[in-house]
Amino acid sequence: MELDNREAGPFAPPCRSILYEIRGRRKSLPPKKRRRSIMNILVINAGSSSLKYQLLDPASGVLLAKGLCERIGIDGKFTYKAEGKQTLDAIDIPMPTHSEAIQAVLDAVADKDNGVISSMSEIGAVGHRVVHGGEAFNKSVLIDGAVLKAIEDCIPLAPLHNPANLTGIRACQKVMPGVPMVAVFDTAFHQTMPARAYMYALPYAWYEEDKVRRYGFHGTSHKYVAGRAAAMLGKPVEEVKLISCHLGNGSSITAVDGGKSVDTSMGFTPLAGVPMGTRSGDLDAGILQYEMNKRGMGIDEMLSALNKQSGVEGLSGVSSDFRDLESAAGKGDAKAALAREKFAYEVRKYVGAYAAAMGGADAVIFTAGVGENDKGIRAAVCQGLEYMGVKLDEAANDVRGKETVLSTADSKVKVLLIPTNEELMIAMDTAEIVSK
Ligand code: ADP
Repeated sequence: MELDNREAGPFAPPCRSILYEIRGRRKSLPPKKRRRSIMNILVINAGSSSLKYQLLDPASGVLLAKGLCERIGIDGKFTYKAEGKQTLDAIDIPMPTHSEAIQAVLDAVADKDNGVISSMSEIGAVGHRVVHGGEAFNKSVLIDGAVLKAIEDCIPLAPLHNPANLTGIRACQKVMPGVPMVAVFDTAFHQTMPARAYMYALPYAWYEEDKVRRYGFHGTSHKYVAGRAAAMLGKPVEEVKLISCHLGNGSSITAVDGGKSVDTSMGFTPLAGVPMGTRSGDLDAGILQYEMNKRGMGIDEMLSALNKQSGVEGLSGVSSDFRDLESAAGKGDAKAALAREKFAYEVRKYVGAYAAAMGGADAVIFTAGVGENDKGIRAAVCQGLEYMGVKLDEAANDVRGKETVLSTADSKVKVLLIPTNEELMIAMDTAEIVSK
């Protein structure tokens, strides 16, 4: 497992002042005694057979250790990385359940020789990524019985993810009794959308009885980069209009007005919005009936095709990876070139739409794997947006993975590259809730 350049860097220098700006406390830094770290936070992202973890100090932004437990319930592989320590790379540790996986994490981080803390008591709290909070959660919350029940109630909305997230929480509670746990939802940031943005023009009963509405995803990432963007613009987040483009394997665009999500491209599920690696993004629902009849497909097969065989991979027939598409297009593959062009075009349309939705924008943000690394896609998205005051600086755009202003000095709308850091955002939310 490689440390990628999207993170603050596992061992990035403390960036406390930046964090305070994110939290809107921009006037002055707190007194010296509060500058010391209050606690380390363990961030857990649990899947059905895997579990990603990071141990962070949210006050400094320093990442102490990170890694991955894989093949939980099968055999168990454990990966651990920490600066100046021996890396463990997919070593065998039996993990019949998530509990053994969490225990392996704790053993590693508190290991006498190879660990980064002296005992588990140095972990102040655990922040859990939870995919779906439905309408029940508009912010991160301290986990108790009622919260667990509410996350369970959201299972029909995220049948693959929420059960795994719950398993991770329960395993942590078992192995770390008494340690406060916080749930941070992918959907929560978008709960500020007005009804005109989150309602579909469908029978109202589908919303009232079945909870069919736009929820949006990647909320933790959009919230993080919005905070950083405001800091880069030198203004409180409450005073800026931002268009955040999270472009990765899954992509979503969000309009952030005054620090609040007011519209987002993903919808009831993460299938909606712009085309993605293998997901179609928005399409005419009439195509479903037409193709299902023509090819004798059932609805499950159709949804699988829209989720797994569509997007830039489906269109190009080459790959879901934008690097492969770039190289194929460079060798003259017309479909690979079309897939990249189509992707950038759809992102650009969302940028225009969200400028219209907010009555302007102060900045367009690029983040996630493609947004942080693919200068060609960024240039193609910004192309033709000069009319609305977006002027990309080609030389500045020749950069990867670090916070950069990509627009010219006279660009009315700034273009920003901001590496996302969802784990740090989760740790910050967790620390804030626990310290209350
Ligand atoms: P996920 O949605 O899985 O978190 P990421 O945000 O990590 O995805 O983005 C993954 C995608 O980023 C890859 O599929 C690849 O297309 C793209 N990517 C990563 N590095 C580069 C690069 N150097 N140039 C172009 N695209 C890149």
